[in-house]
Amino acid sequence: MSKQPSKILYAQDFPRIAACGPHVGGGFNSRVQGVEFYSATRGSHQFERGEGWYAADEMIATGQIYFVHPFPHKNCRSSGFVYGGTWACNECRTDGFQKPWWNVRVMKDGSAWCVVGEGFEDLQISDNYAFGDTRESALEAYASIMNAKTA
Ligand SMILES: [Zn+2]
Repeated sequence: MSKQPSKILYAQDFPRIAACGPHVGGGFNSRVQGVEFYSATRGSHQFERGEGWYAADEMIATGQIYFVHPFPHKNCRSSGFVYGGTWACNECRTDGFQKPWWNVRVMKDGSAWCVVGEGFEDLQISDNYAFGDTRESALEAYASIMNAKTA
């Protein structure tokens, strides 16, 4: 694992991304916050925003950065969407259901997948992590641990 801070970082924290300007940075930050591609790239500067969105998506997929993962809420089948900085859902008609522990980093660790939450330091002193055989099963294991902790 790299030595970068154990928390969500934004475009301005990465010189390579920041150098690309505010629209690329805006797309990057949208992906980090969990905004879907089609929402993040609507309107003006859509190509620059798309470039930033994909740059973040690649860093998320390869476990380089923290991001907001929309975990299941209230037995609802929909994952909801980001609206004005908070999460909302049309299926169950609620909002504000996101949790601080949704901020995660997902990495391949040998043949296993590992999910760690913000503030994670190591396996000895931290308790906000989980492993799984697949990316999805690691996320599910992490959610059940964190739901149990905060219940
Ligand atoms: Zn819902």
